[in-house]
Amino acid sequence: MNDLIQQVKDIDDEIISLHNKVDECKIIKRDIIRKIWMTCKHNWVDNSEKYYGDISGKLCSKCNLYSNKNLYF
Ligand SMILES: [Zn+2]
Repeated sequence: MNDLIQQVKDIDDEIISLHNKVDECKIIKRDIIRKIWMTCKHNWVDNSEKYYGDISGKLCSKCNLYSNKNLYF
Protein backbone atom coordinates (compact mmCIF):
# COMPACT_ATOMS: atom_id res chain seq x y z
CA MET A 1 0.00 0.00 0.00
CA ASN A 2 2.73 2.46 0.99
CA ASP A 3 4.47 1.63 -2.23
CA LEU A 4 1.40 2.60 -4.24
CA ILE A 5 1.09 5.91 -2.39
CA GLN A 6 4.74 6.59 -3.15
CA GLN A 7 4.13 5.76 -6.81
CA VAL A 8 1.37 8.37 -6.96
CA LYS A 9 3.68 10.97 -5.39
CA ASP A 10 6.43 10.13 -7.86
CA ILE A 11 4.05 10.51 -10.77
CA ASP A 12 2.80 13.83 -9.38
CA ASP A 13 6.39 15.04 -9.21
CA GLU A 14 6.93 13.90 -12.78
CA ILE A 15 3.78 15.73 -13.94
CA ILE A 16 4.91 18.97 -12.25
CA SER A 17 8.34 18.63 -13.79
CA LEU A 18 6.88 18.07 -17.25
CA HIS A 19 4.54 21.05 -16.84
CA ASN A 20 7.55 23.21 -16.04
CA LYS A 21 9.35 21.86 -19.07
CA VAL A 22 6.35 22.66 -21.28
CA ASP A 23 6.23 26.23 -19.92
CA GLU A 24 9.95 26.58 -20.63
CA CYS A 25 9.48 25.35 -24.19
CA LYS A 26 6.57 27.75 -24.77
CA ILE A 27 8.73 30.72 -23.72
CA ILE A 28 11.62 29.59 -25.92
CA LYS A 29 9.23 29.07 -28.84
CA ARG A 30 7.66 32.49 -28.31
CA ASP A 31 11.07 34.16 -28.41
CA ILE A 32 12.04 32.30 -31.59
CA ILE A 33 8.75 33.24 -33.25
CA ARG A 34 9.31 36.89 -32.32
CA LYS A 35 12.76 36.70 -33.85
CA ILE A 36 11.30 35.19 -37.05
CA TRP A 37 8.57 37.83 -37.16
CA MET A 38 11.16 40.61 -36.89
CA THR A 39 13.65 39.22 -39.42
CA CYS A 40 11.54 37.53 -42.12
CA LYS A 41 11.03 39.53 -45.29
CA HIS A 42 7.34 38.67 -45.15
CA ASN A 43 5.27 37.88 -48.20
CA TRP A 44 1.73 38.49 -46.98
CA VAL A 45 -1.00 36.44 -48.63
CA ASP A 46 -4.68 36.00 -47.87
CA ASN A 47 -5.30 33.36 -45.24
CA SER A 48 -7.41 30.69 -46.94
CA GLU A 49 -8.41 29.24 -43.57
CA LYS A 50 -9.71 32.54 -42.38
CA TYR A 51 -12.99 32.12 -40.57
CA TYR A 52 -15.74 34.54 -39.64
CA GLY A 53 -14.64 37.04 -37.05
CA ASP A 54 -10.96 36.31 -37.61
CA ILE A 55 -8.98 39.53 -37.15
CA SER A 56 -5.62 37.93 -37.73
CA GLY A 57 -5.36 39.30 -41.24
CA LYS A 58 -2.92 37.79 -43.69
CA LEU A 59 -0.37 35.02 -43.44
CA CYS A 60 3.25 35.11 -44.58
CA SER A 61 3.94 32.47 -47.22
CA LYS A 62 7.54 32.15 -45.98
CA CYS A 63 7.29 31.94 -42.19
CA ASN A 64 3.57 31.09 -41.85
CA LEU A 65 3.07 33.78 -39.23
CA TYR A 66 0.12 36.17 -39.18
CA SER A 67 0.47 39.78 -40.22
CA ASN A 68 -1.13 40.84 -36.93
CA LYS A 69 1.95 41.56 -34.82
CA ASN A 70 -0.15 41.76 -31.65
CA LEU A 71 -0.55 37.99 -31.72
CA TYR A 72 3.12 37.56 -30.92
CA PHE A 73 4.17 40.65 -28.96
ZN1 LIG B 1 7.33 35.96 -42.90
